[in-house]
Amino acid sequence: MERLYWTEPTRFELEVDVTALTDRRITIDPILFHPEEGGQPADTGQVGDATVMGVHLVNGQIVLSLDKPLGSGKHLARLDRKHRLHTASQHSAQHILSGLADTRFNLKTVGVHIGLERSTIDFETTVDWSSAQTLESCAMEVVMENLVIETVFNDTAVRSRFDLKHIDSELIRVVKIGQYDASACCGAHVHRTGDIGIIRVVDLETRKQGTRLSFIAGPKALAFSQTETSVLRSLRQLSHCATEELPGMLQKQWDRSAALSKAVDGLYDQMLPTLVNTAVVVETEGSKTGIQVNTLPGKLSGKLAALMADHVQGSGVVVSDTSICIHSKTMMAKELLQRLHDAVGGRGGGSPHAASGMLAEVLTREQIVSILQAPKNRHSGSWLKTEG
Ligand SMILES: [Zn+2]
Repeated sequence: MERLYWTEPTRFELEVDVTALTDRRITIDPILFHPEEGGQPADTGQVGDATVMGVHLVNGQIVLSLDKPLGSGKHLARLDRKHRLHTASQHSAQHILSGLADTRFNLKTVGVHIGLERSTIDFETTVDWSSAQTLESCAMEVVMENLVIETVFNDTAVRSRFDLKHIDSELIRVVKIGQYDASACCGAHVHRTGDIGIIRVVDLETRKQGTRLSFIAGPKALAFSQTETSVLRSLRQLSHCATEELPGMLQKQWDRSAALSKAVDGLYDQMLPTLVNTAVVVETEGSKTGIQVNTLPGKLSGKLAALMADHVQGSGVVVSDTSICIHSKTMMAKELLQRLHDAVGGRGGGSPHAASGMLAEVLTREQIVSILQAPKNRHSGSWLKTEG
């Protein structure tokens, strides 16, 4: 059977002979729809009044799954043109990038994924960002040359990047793009390189072995670039500087923020003795407990709780928003946390000496005092309601 997506990539609709395999699975001749194969998503569209839900290779045959039954006979088949142009643009761009990477940078392609948002090429060795940008520029020159993407058969002196074992004949289909690429391939491509419009290399990621390059081609590449341009424009307006100055400006702000955080921590550290002395101290079953609420950042809570426990020779409870930290000389830390959890809920745990966790809601100092001083047997989940 003739695969029309190999020989006539600009054909988006025609009458086909349908053979019904079951009521919702058919084969068509000629084959208009590209199946899910070689890392490229399947075509979508319609045959007769049925929608194509999937296109798969089954025992060497290209089988279409439909949303409703369709009988054998002649029917009009129509591709989703936008979807095809997207996948074919990504795939054609991949040929150009892989071909140029091979000839110009001696980079071998070892894996390809054609996605609906972005696509990737895995290279065997590492690539730096500057080389990736050169590759992008060279690829755009090939787009501008507007070369015909040719299909030739049985040219065995080419590279093969894909697993071709599914192909149901001896026929080897080779895709040629001028001097830039010639590789065995089973996918659907655009007619001319100019149809791709734009190829953008958008990211590089170092893998365990080699590099993964992410790219976008066609209208989605324009949309991606427009989003990035808008973001950069906003950042320039916020920072009052040029695009090239943004990384330096951001680094400067990060450094300043880190230095300020350190200075603030130092100031809080100096405040700890004062916070120990100003804590509310209550009696809980014959033992003293110091309480401080929302007076310092959470990361210093443990230190303050330990100082307070030491100061009152009992327990120290420090609450910041909903996080809680308890230290105890009298081995009550876990029990005090449990009382608060019984009253309002939350999570966490620890030992008789130290416990920490979260409270299910923000409590005032007065509420905490009330819960910790309530007789032991009165604690229940309904504390706030019953106490009013
Ligand atoms: Zn291909």
